[in-house]
Amino acid sequence: MKPTLETLIQETLQKEKRNLFSFLTGAGISSESGLPTYRGSDGIWIKGTKYHKPEEFGTFKYFSQNQEEVWQYNLFWKKLIEEAKPNQGHFTLSEIENLLSEKFQLITQNVDGLHQKAGSKNVFEIHGNKQTVRCASECSGVMLIPSELKSKDLSEDLSEKDIELLHCQNCEDWLRPNTLWFDESYNEKLYFLNSTLKAAKNTGVLFVIGTSGATTLPQMIAETVLQYGGFLVEINTEEDSYFFERFSRTKKYILIKEKASDALIKIKEMIEKYK
Ligand SMILES: [Zn+2]
Repeated sequence: MKPTLETLIQETLQKEKRNLFSFLTGAGISSESGLPTYRGSDGIWIKGTKYHKPEEFGTFKYFSQNQEEVWQYNLFWKKLIEEAKPNQGHFTLSEIENLLSEKFQLITQNVDGLHQKAGSKNVFEIHGNKQTVRCASECSGVMLIPSELKSKDLSEDLSEKDIELLHCQNCEDWLRPNTLWFDESYNEKLYFLNSTLKAAKNTGVLFVIGTSGATTLPQMIAETVLQYGGFLVEINTEEDSYFFERFSRTKKYILIKEKASDALIKIKEMIEKYK
């Protein structure tokens, strides 16, 4: 018999070990803030008459041949991100973090920084953050995007000043967005590969919110949670994700068919009740 969500939360709060409440979020949680989801048709980038899918232009290979175009796209996104406000789902997660403190871990695939804007403190950004940059030759660490750099409209070209600001002050190579591209691999230093898998081993319940699970680290995190005895709770109005396909027939998977912000409020109330 599968436990109910309420029983699962109650029991996890009483556990001495492997009692972490981990939350894995994807673009779905930010769509209520008006940001386009990366994999939806609105994630397509149109430059001139060329249509690009994220899988084509979201690569280091493409960047190394088209730096100005990739930066133009990213400075358009900078504008969307600066204007976006966290929604109820982000705020409720931050409240859950305050309730659970060290028993809480947030892992996000999002690069929009909205969790931090809502007050979340302990966040593993496994695909990076669009508000930070690093040298494309990796000669230095992660830096905030230069503050003088202005965001752009879709059709706006880079100015000479923009191009100057987008070059590394040490080695003069281009700066690059500090995000994981499709032809790159996860690592600990930039994308918290080991830290998230360690958290997964100590997780009593992993909540999956707004992600289809198309990338490998989220899949590994879910596998690891289940392998070490934890549960997986997916919040999704559809039965369409990797997690549903892979785990819905197991006893340690629960599907909550509700909007993320509604489900999170219920989860928060259950934690308050049994804490
Ligand atoms: Zn450099």
